[in-house]
Amino acid sequence: MAQQGTINVTTDNIFPIIKQFLYSDQEIFLRELISNAVDATQKRKMLAQLGEVGEITDTPQVEVILDEAEGTMTIRDAGIGMTAEEIDKYINQIAFSGATDFLEKYKDADAKQAIIGHFGLGFYSAFMVADRVDIVTLSQREGSQAVKWSCDGSPNFSLEDIDKETAGTDIVLHISDDAKEYLAQERIREILNTYCKFMPVEIVQGTKSEYVDDPEGATDEDGKVKKVSVDVPFVVNKTEPAWTKKPADLSDEDYQEFYRDLYPMNFEDPLFHIHLNVDFPFNLTGILYFPKLKKQMDLQKNRIHLYSNQVFITDNVENIVPDFLTLLHGVIDSPDIPLNVSRSYLQEDANVKKISGHISKKVSDKLAQMFKKDREAFEAQWDDLRVFVEYGMLTDEKFAERAQKFFLYKDTTGKCHTHEELMAVVGDTQKDKHGKVVLPYTPHAEGQHSFVKEATERGYTVLVMDGPLAAHVVGKLEQTHTDIQFKRVDADIAEKLIEKDEELSSALDEKQEETLKPILEGAFPGEATYKVQFAAMSPTSAPLVITQSEFMRRMKEQQAVGGGGFQMFGDMPDSYEVTVNANHPLATTLLHETDDAKRAALAKQAANLARLSQGLLEGEELTAFIQDGFAQLQGA
Ligand code: ADP
Repeated sequence: MAQQGTINVTTDNIFPIIKQFLYSDQEIFLRELISNAVDATQKRKMLAQLGEVGEITDTPQVEVILDEAEGTMTIRDAGIGMTAEEIDKYINQIAFSGATDFLEKYKDADAKQAIIGHFGLGFYSAFMVADRVDIVTLSQREGSQAVKWSCDGSPNFSLEDIDKETAGTDIVLHISDDAKEYLAQERIREILNTYCKFMPVEIVQGTKSEYVDDPEGATDEDGKVKKVSVDVPFVVNKTEPAWTKKPADLSDEDYQEFYRDLYPMNFEDPLFHIHLNVDFPFNLTGILYFPKLKKQMDLQKNRIHLYSNQVFITDNVENIVPDFLTLLHGVIDSPDIPLNVSRSYLQEDANVKKISGHISKKVSDKLAQMFKKDREAFEAQWDDLRVFVEYGMLTDEKFAERAQKFFLYKDTTGKCHTHEELMAVVGDTQKDKHGKVVLPYTPHAEGQHSFVKEATERGYTVLVMDGPLAAHVVGKLEQTHTDIQFKRVDADIAEKLIEKDEELSSALDEKQEETLKPILEGAFPGEATYKVQFAAMSPTSAPLVITQSEFMRRMKEQQAVGGGGFQMFGDMPDSYEVTVNANHPLATTLLHETDDAKRAALAKQAANLARLSQGLLEGEELTAFIQDGFAQLQGA
């Protein structure tokens, strides 16, 4: 039987469109053809178990055979095979939902993703790299006739009976001139390594050179037996990757090994893992690893790989899992993630929502369980987990709720507290006169040492809130717990950090303050930037303290990241409060100094020291200040 026919598409020639359209992701043709071969192999296995086709005695493989001389690539399987009728049904009557639909869809900029993911296009993607494609196939069913289908990319094909010894299918690609790269073993190996690394049937590529003794037994000049290189096919994939197994059958070492298989270029072990396994109401397996984040948000390398039944789809899981989970590493395998819709629709998909909700819950459960089981170990890992947990709290409301059990505040002594524990410790001592519990914090304990010291000396617990998300986390926690208020340690003098009713009596009266005020104002550069005020503080506290109000600082910070609607202020200058300690002996000295020049110099020196302690003395002023200091040493 020989037959000519026309493929059932309504446009004259769809292949040039496919070819051009998918060009940048051309290499996926191989994934499509190999996954067809794998499917056919697995179907055969299933039918053999049912007794519908003969028993399987060999280890079924899929072979990728390159022939540079002929310019062909053959994908060979010993799978179910096809009869002429089956070719007609599955190949001629194009599997994707009609060419008109396709053409309609591809106008959409986002459609490309959809089409690439659309497995229905599968077989025809071969025409992205081939001028002609042959299907040489013999069905496994007893008494079948082998056939060869051939098509040159026009809608016309030929179909003829042929002789073929073994059942299964050869897809022969006559590689086009502009796709010659696909005849190079190295290139193919690279593609197989990306897409087929964990496919469930052995994939074999025939190129690994091995040196064996020359069969003729010839010797070289040294009299040694000559070695010759022969090509032996080698298996490119692991057919049972860790995520397909039961957690009970895997050791920690197995999980580590799989991590290294996934990211061969990564040399740091992950902290721990979560094995995902759901089969209702959707199908999901996978292993997620927690990397050591070290307070960084490294979103780029080692991304989560998305698989569909062990076929690699993408390492871009944006819109498929919640953003904060993209900080994790590992694999997610779910045939229930729709790949035939564009990315922007994915987020709205009910299945995808369920899946990401599930993963988020699993992750928080795991963290809660670790916290409960071994708190010490959890605390030891907290610095690496923190950014992740914070990112989750800021972007996933349900995660934020669950995280209340294990989110830890770390104080400047290194002690960790849950919210509840912290409230038990500071709830009374740090309650201000308005009933709010004030939580002094610092992004950098060393850098703000003097303020931290003052606050801790008053018995306050100072929290360390650092990392890229700290400012947002502070806001988020205040929203969640309306009875708390964060205040950076330099937001006020220690006496006023937590406003209480009691007040120290001042050594200066109002008139004396009025005398001193202009003198001190003159020692600072500009009234708008440094506002001088007086406070009755402890005589042992610093004579001058520069602070920036919590409100002003947050506004500046929000403006810096361009949010919060503060743009209307324009580029706000920094402004600080200078608090003069009315009870410090320096205040009295300044008051009683009668020599104006001397008094101004003294005030200037005090102002400079106060600015220096806050890192606010810079440039020319700093140079001059240091030079003066050295000059005084010489004079002394
Ligand atoms: P899909 O795989 O999404 O169904 P394809 O266009 O890739 O779409 O393939 C269409 C059909 O052709 C397959 O469903 C299968 O029935 C058949 N087919 C393709 N390749 C093979 C093969 N190697 N062996 C047996 N059947 C195949």
